[in-house]
Amino acid sequence: MTTGQCLCAAVRFSLSVEPRFFYRCHCSLCRKQTGVGFNLATLVNARDFRWDAGQDLINSWVKPSGYRNDFCAQCGSTVPNPLRESPYVWIPLGLLDEDLSMECVGDFCVDDAMSWDTQRSTRSYHGAVESLAFLLQKLRLNPD
Ligand SMILES: [Zn+2]
Ligand SMILES: [Zn+2]
Repeated sequence: MTTGQCLCAAVRFSLSVEPRFFYRCHCSLCRKQTGVGFNLATLVNARDFRWDAGQDLINSWVKPSGYRNDFCAQCGSTVPNPLRESPYVWIPLGLLDEDLSMECVGDFCVDDAMSWDTQRSTRSYHGAVESLAFLLQKLRLNPD
């Protein structure tokens, strides 16, 4: 089992799986969301995800385009959010407590990256994640 929590530890969750793959996104929205050059995230099947505490403290900000940031109302940490109309949950990697052995499967929106943001995996994608199916395949998750 893998656990995760926000900065103030009020929002806590656990995963019944250990994610092995993640992706980076360098788009302008992910930069603002994280406060750094890129987002590091993965997806897990909703059946492998459980809230343990603090769900009532989660606020949600959704851009008309659909970009969503759920965050702890006490400390402001970005927290997991359910992907629209899918059985998957988006997980920001930094919230995980364990130091898992993980591999980056791709860098998205590299054309939007700032020039000081130079870290890349072996695969770079110039545009956004084109579809959920594409990302699931990269993360070795099989759609049900
Ligand atoms: Zn918090
Ligand atoms: Zn992004």
